[in-house]
Amino acid sequence: MARSPLRLASLALLAAAAGAGLWFAMGRRANSPRFPGAHAILLSIDTLRRDALTSYGAPPSATPALARLAADGVVVEQAIAASNYTAPSHATMLTGASPRVHGVLNTHKSSPRPIPPELPTLADRLRAAGYATYGDSDRGYVSKAFGFDRGFDTWREEQTGLRPKIDGAIRFLESLPPGKPGFVFLHTYETHAPYLPTEEELDRLSARFRDAHIAPRVLRRILRNEEADAENHGDLFEDAFHFRPEDIAFLRAVYASKVREADAAVGALHAQLSERGLLDKTVWVVTSDHGEEFKEHGSWQHQTVFDPVARVPLLVRLPGALHAGSRRDVVFPAISLAPTLLDLLGIAPPENLEGYSLASDLAGSRGAPTDAAHCVNYHSEAWVGTAVRSPRSKVIAPAPGTSGAPEAYDLAADPEEKDPQKIGSEDSKRLMVELARTLTLWEALRGRFNPPANTAPLDEQALEQLRGLGYGK
Ligand SMILES: [Zn+2]
Repeated sequence: MARSPLRLASLALLAAAAGAGLWFAMGRRANSPRFPGAHAILLSIDTLRRDALTSYGAPPSATPALARLAADGVVVEQAIAASNYTAPSHATMLTGASPRVHGVLNTHKSSPRPIPPELPTLADRLRAAGYATYGDSDRGYVSKAFGFDRGFDTWREEQTGLRPKIDGAIRFLESLPPGKPGFVFLHTYETHAPYLPTEEELDRLSARFRDAHIAPRVLRRILRNEEADAENHGDLFEDAFHFRPEDIAFLRAVYASKVREADAAVGALHAQLSERGLLDKTVWVVTSDHGEEFKEHGSWQHQTVFDPVARVPLLVRLPGALHAGSRRDVVFPAISLAPTLLDLLGIAPPENLEGYSLASDLAGSRGAPTDAAHCVNYHSEAWVGTAVRSPRSKVIAPAPGTSGAPEAYDLAADPEEKDPQKIGSEDSKRLMVELARTLTLWEALRGRFNPPANTAPLDEQALEQLRGLGYGK
């Protein structure tokens, strides 16, 4: 059988890259169905912890709509966020480049750096392939100021929660002429702190968690005094140091109630797509930019790269509910999201992209070139460390130039990551090699983009919203 000259050239390039200590994923075109001309929906529910979903072990009442979506689709077991923070993670989702390559940070003190202009976004690529593109975010870090509007014909940003965004998305899909595919990106902060419940829900939960004193008090103050939102949420942050286990249990319950709200909105989107005959013409992905931690490792929200933060849900519904109810144990790094979506839509992902398509892995065949994924740990605007994770092991290493020793976790024996080990096991040594290779790759790829100029500082309204979300106090 003749080998294609193109493939040989690609392999030669791969060999050259490997010889240079670099590693480039090649586009993979295995025998799994593609859906050219299908619509695409990417829904990012910010701060959605994996185990908050019924599909990942929560009770049936936790997320019935997401469970229904999962029952018609593919559940990915080992999806790993690109970072613990919103802006870098979303920039990775939408470009296929790692946070240390695209350089986008959560910034509130310095001016934002947008996605580098030389780096095409998923929306850019889809638009170039003939798609109409529509994005609607809850703003915050997923905003124009960070370049997230790039490639969208229509871009909206207002903190409304998910439900009000659905009608606009459906109207957009319905407005398209026959044969014109649409791409919809939706982002919501609905499950982000301070997880504001209704008064009734707060009353119910306060009665249930009688020994929780700090968190219910602060949430009540925020609810009753809307204009002082930001300041009171700052109090919540400061009070977090004094949270007792009862406060954490209360916050977990409030969080779960917000997850149920987001889930209900997913159910509404599902129903509308179905009623209008759009569901089976659409590749629909639901995921998150990071999870949420409740002091399992001392921090609240998303400060670390332990699994409650790094491991995220990933559900993919394909037209015709193909592979309905299947679970794939593939390691799915966030860099692979954009190329996989392009590939599923029959658009060849660029071969020089850092992320690689896992479309054939969703279909059940093995195509992933590696079983490791990386999650960059930021704290404020500083890179403090990197996790590299395989299904069995994890290494968390300090960022180059910072002090401290790498820690290894045997996830099979210690799934809660409570027992850090020194690097020594075969697995941990392998992950250290993987990490070193990746850091070299990031450094090389970063050089391909001109450092983006900082844009104007965020306006006061944007800063106020970010303070309301707990940033920048
Ligand atoms: Zn986020």
